[in-house]
Amino acid sequence: FVKSSVIEGTQHEEDSDQEDIDEKDMLKRELQDERKTLPIYKFRDELLKAVEEYQVIVIVGETGSGKTTQIPQYLHEAGYTAKGKVACTQPRRVAAMSVAARVSQEMGVKLGHEVGYSIRFEDCTSEKTLIKYMTDGMLLREFLGEPDLASYSVVMVDEAHERTLSTDILFGLVKDISRFRPDLKLLISSATLDAEKFSDYFDSAPIFKIPGRRYPVEVHYTKAPEADYIDAAIVTVLQIHVTQPPGDILVFLTGQEEIETIDEILKHRTRGLGTKIAELIICPIYANLPTELQAKIFEPTPEGARKVVLATNIAETSLTIDGIKYVIDPGFCKIKSYNPRTGMESLLINPISKASANQRAGRSGRTGPGKCFRLYTSYNYMHDLEDNTVPEIQRTNLANVVLTLKSLGIHDLVNFDFMDPPPSEALLKALEQLFALSALNSRGELTKTGRRMAEFPLDPMLSKMIVASEKYKCSDEVISIASMLSVGNSIFYRPKDKQVYNSWKETDYSTQWCYENYIQVRSMKRARDIRDQLEGLLERVEIEISSNASDLDAIKKAITSGKNGSYRTVKNPQTVLPRWVIYHELVLTTKEYMRQVTELKPDWLVEIAPHYYQLKDVDDTGTKKLPKGQGRAAL
Ligand code: ADP
Ligand code: MG
Repeated sequence: FVKSSVIEGTQHEEDSDQEDIDEKDMLKRELQDERKTLPIYKFRDELLKAVEEYQVIVIVGETGSGKTTQIPQYLHEAGYTAKGKVACTQPRRVAAMSVAARVSQEMGVKLGHEVGYSIRFEDCTSEKTLIKYMTDGMLLREFLGEPDLASYSVVMVDEAHERTLSTDILFGLVKDISRFRPDLKLLISSATLDAEKFSDYFDSAPIFKIPGRRYPVEVHYTKAPEADYIDAAIVTVLQIHVTQPPGDILVFLTGQEEIETIDEILKHRTRGLGTKIAELIICPIYANLPTELQAKIFEPTPEGARKVVLATNIAETSLTIDGIKYVIDPGFCKIKSYNPRTGMESLLINPISKASANQRAGRSGRTGPGKCFRLYTSYNYMHDLEDNTVPEIQRTNLANVVLTLKSLGIHDLVNFDFMDPPPSEALLKALEQLFALSALNSRGELTKTGRRMAEFPLDPMLSKMIVASEKYKCSDEVISIASMLSVGNSIFYRPKDKQVYNSWKETDYSTQWCYENYIQVRSMKRARDIRDQLEGLLERVEIEISSNASDLDAIKKAITSGKNGSYRTVKNPQTVLPRWVIYHELVLTTKEYMRQVTELKPDWLVEIAPHYYQLKDVDDTGTKKLPKGQGRAAL
């Protein structure tokens, strides 16, 4: 077939699938039957034929048609895994884990054996692994150890429409290796119709379309804009629950905090509804939700009850939840943006794109006619929403990716085969940051420090801090700091109803109670796992473990080594103490906040990075302007 042709495929014979006669496991057999009901099943043979014939194929199919869970299994059944692993990349960690769990169940194998997943700091694969679900970022890192991906026979870049930074970089890399590895099959799969663009990029690769079952979806708009979409979402859930026929509800929210708030309010409000109203089962799903609880969203809703799933964007295309009949779309999501001039990255709540709104609506019409309640006006939809979300590569800090590409020997970044190139300022800023960190020399070449930094799956600032800890003999402390920073702000657990000081008072200020209530053991364990891995990597870059806990300055100097100039003006610096601080993150929410802060002495900057700072830059008394920023005092 030719480029862009629609492949309808032929009907697959219902009983031609070889069933494993020895299989005693009922669950497995049930799941095998279920597999055959997915829309993609009819195209199994056609798809395999196409894979055999072409090296690169773009696959488009409605969310829930079975792309992610089925295609890698088809490839396995067709013998591709005999020649090498099948990789399937996902932009989200939760999706990689959840899908791997599902597929291992369908195949009746233990997760981590034939089917596994690999996400940052968590490798659930083994020697046996044939089908490997992984985040796009992890596959990118695998290029460092295996530049031709020799151990893989197929790479499926899934959820390509998401256009994450790692996916975009992967496009360039897999396209490049496909030229000298004709045996490597590439599948680019997407839920939306960007197919043409992917096909063009991959030298007119054929497009394979899997027609999904899609029932009509009634879209409802609000008459006037909603002042508070949280409140509006809650009211809408309750209205649907009380007035509409059976069917589960999916609400799209922007993050964990919103989800927890609504979860709590809904629990509270439904308590008073009485026994005449059906039970409402509330299921949250977001990236940091413990794995055990994630599985809950897939459990079938008991007869007579109704499920309401409170989800982030993850439910837009990454995860399919069966049984959804009503979608509530407030029209927002968190979007990262980056200002290359200040080096500031922010994660702000923004309106979604039309493409997202349509994906969200589509979630309600998978198993029957659905309804989507948009908590905005049709005028908003028509006039205020952009058509598509800007690809991440055009709105993010590129330092990490530039370091990775340089480590792969790709020096000419300007001419890298980007599907959509990043802004040149952002590329320059990344080069400048890496130079300041001594990861690159003045000619833009990777230094020994840079090469060591690239070994760590961390932000360059954190990996530099670790590499620098060698000099200050405090690697022991510094990797603990790096691992704690890597688990983020989830160390402390604050259930909404336990936030108050009084609850503590009630227990007579018990230490045990604090221990039991405020520290997330899970996060600590995760930090410990990360620390173990960092310790292993230290060995790899030949840095000895050395402890220097008594010398706080040494540790702070190592931390300072991992920072580079993003200056902020502090008014009247003479009256503010400390005058110079380092922050781990700068977050723009209602205001610009520094997170995780420690004090430093300005002359350390000159001591640590003389190629970047001069004494006059850090002069603490004058009002001289810094060469590269607009002020001074904090970085
Ligand atoms: P696609 O990738 O085309 O969106 P999937 O392969 O993810 O489709 O989904 C196919 C089916 O598998 C859906 O019906 C979905 O509900 C089911 N499924 C996927 N993951 C899980 C899981 N972790 N638990 C239960 N069912 C799942
Ligand atoms: Mg999928």
